[in-house]
Amino acid sequence: MIPFDFEYYRPDTPEEAVMLYDDLYKEGKNPLYYGGGTEIISFSRLYQLYPGAVIDIKGIPECNVLEQKNGYLVIGAALTLSQIQESNIFPLLIHCGGRVADHTIRDKITLGGNICAKIPYREAVLALLTCDADIMIQGTDGKKRVNIHEVFNQFLRINKGEFLLQVIINEKIARLPFASYKTTADGAVAYPQDKIGYPVVSGAGINKDGKLRVAVSGVCNYPVRLAEVDNALNDTGIPRFERINNAVEFFPIISDMEGSADYRTFVLKNILFDMMERLEYY
Ligand SMILES: Cc1cc2nc3c(=O)[nH]c(=O)nc-3n(C[C@H](O)[C@H](O)[C@H](O)COP(=O)(O)OP(=O)(O)OC[C@H]3O[C@@H](n4cnc5c(N)ncnc54)[C@H](O)[C@@H]3O)c2cc1C
Repeated sequence: MIPFDFEYYRPDTPEEAVMLYDDLYKEGKNPLYYGGGTEIISFSRLYQLYPGAVIDIKGIPECNVLEQKNGYLVIGAALTLSQIQESNIFPLLIHCGGRVADHTIRDKITLGGNICAKIPYREAVLALLTCDADIMIQGTDGKKRVNIHEVFNQFLRINKGEFLLQVIINEKIARLPFASYKTTADGAVAYPQDKIGYPVVSGAGINKDGKLRVAVSGVCNYPVRLAEVDNALNDTGIPRFERINNAVEFFPIISDMEGSADYRTFVLKNILFDMMERLEYY
């Protein structure tokens, strides 16, 4: 049970949502956009969040689109990870999002909620970072489309009152061969498999025009793709093991209850090696 009362709104349009946010914020109600609610509910129960109002974006048609348009995939922020999984529209996102929690919870978790959550892992972001996705943001002054690398640095840096409407991915990039692996404290998690576990390391990679692009989660306190890491892995003048050793040096690798920095480094190196094998990148 959530130990306090809050107001619930379900607007029909993006414009209504941002206006509502503005009004509620001015009234001091500390509003939050609401996707699947899995994090908002868990944190509210623990008093780590106490919104006076939530704005559920699931009634907004733009947040529920799942379409191929002019060479791009458009995926609404309110779609659940299960809906995306069933659509088969973006295989790498399906793999990254398809190992989050279990099937019942993925029926609730939305793409936007996973991207904007406080949890460090946010595994859906990995697919978007490797594929250079665009992000459609709604604010009071309208919509803006920006590349994920302009707005995602450890977390999605959007202005107060703005919300994530859609993600847009170049269809050709979304169809490239990919590799995606997750290791939890209990061992490797295959896809699809209903085993709940936070990642020690979760990684996604693609091979675009003969160059590797890699994003990881679990390694640091946020999902990340680093140009230095991609450059080190693509430095084909030196042996593969050396490239991997050089690449991992760029990550500020964390230690926590899931695994020490040394263990994470060991797992990460193995995942990078497996990715190269799978993508036939030697
Ligand atoms: C048992 C369990 C295990 C899990 N394991 C993993 C895991 O291994 N890896 C992983 O990545 N995740 C995992 N998760 C998911 C993660 O912890 C979050 O619960 C989830 O991503 C939140 O999604 P949601 O749609 O429910 O978001 P909500 O709870 O609705 O919102 C989360 C935050 O995002 C904001 N928000 C939501 N939608 C938008 C939007 N469109 N625009 C702007 N802000 C928005 C909200 O205001 C809130 O601050 C797990 C969850 C559970 C319950």
